Amino acid sequence: MPGRVLHRSPLPERPQIHMLSLPLEWELESTQVYFIEDDPLTLIDTGVKSRASLAALESALDELGYGVADIERVVLTHGHRDHFGLVETLRERGARLECWVHEADAPMVEDFESVVRARLGDALELFRESGATSDVLERIEDDRFHALDQNLAEGQSTRVDRALREGDRVEWKDFAVRVLHSPGHTPGHLLLEDEAAGLLFTGDQVMGQGVPRAETFYLNALPDPADACRRRPRFQGLVELRRSLRRLRGRSDKWLLPGFGGLVRRADRTVRDTILYYDVRLQRIDRGLRHLAAMDQEVTAFDLRTALFPPDESLEQTRVQLLLLIGALDCLEQDGLIVTRRRSDGVLAHRHR
Ligand SMILES: [Zn+2]
Repeated sequence: MPGRVLHRSPLPERPQIHMLSLPLEWELESTQVYFIEDDPLTLIDTGVKSRASLAALESALDELGYGVADIERVVLTHGHRDHFGLVETLRERGARLECWVHEADAPMVEDFESVVRARLGDALELFRESGATSDVLERIEDDRFHALDQNLAEGQSTRVDRALREGDRVEWKDFAVRVLHSPGHTPGHLLLEDEAAGLLFTGDQVMGQGVPRAETFYLNALPDPADACRRRPRFQGLVELRRSLRRLRGRSDKWLLPGFGGLVRRADRTVRDTILYYDVRLQRIDRGLRHLAAMDQEVTAFDLRTALFPPDESLEQTRVQLLLLIGALDCLEQDGLIVTRRRSDGVLAHRHR
């Protein structure tokens, strides 16, 4: 059941901000984007590329007296297809807009298909290295083309006109926000801080409901020569996410404006809850590894997945759980709690110190 799309001026502090809930065909049921009715007319994120999403955006803009061709700028919180998917469509519909995104996520937006292809291919190696069984690896391999199709159906490369960095300002005639680089969910996730009004746009880094997932993928085809296990360098999203969230502790924003789950009134509590969610999981894994080390045992990420989660989950669940555990092991290694070695079969095994 589609709910209301347009939430007109939900915040008295900045009546020019409108929240739009656009439908998704996967996962959560809608994504929140923000239309800033000021000069230049700006969207913060666009929603996924789909007929339903475009129709919802058109109807909300129409209610406000605009059309999609009037949009002059899109600022993206990050390079996921449910946030940038529609940009190219808006351009095709006549919008002469500028698209701004953090420099680290710009390749995902400008060259979506090749980035997705590379990451889907690399995921097999990542999971093999994590000890996934041949059955799971085969299923992931078989699913690769379906996953690619789904990505390409909902996202489309588009030109980036400005690559943003920490401290940059995004300005309108009547106000401005500051860019905070907040990696984790993606490498180039950014937050937009409106200090004067006490608002913070948080994308998927801090959400109204649920917790953000962190990306994990190889950065380079060659192994890191400084690493004793000869691992390929990776973007370690969960390590980054923890660091980014800790930087946000103690914030006194009146409102968070996330990509999911409504508007958030209690910024600090929501940030702390998200940190706690991951801390609890890390502690549980740490305890398990400590226990195994006492019995002189080491584990792979996939062993942990088998021990911690019920069997026969869907392939997508398996993938999500494995990525969470790979991220957790990254954090424990970063904290100096575990040591990792590469077994003769190439799989990485971890042991508590
Ligand atoms: Zn996202």
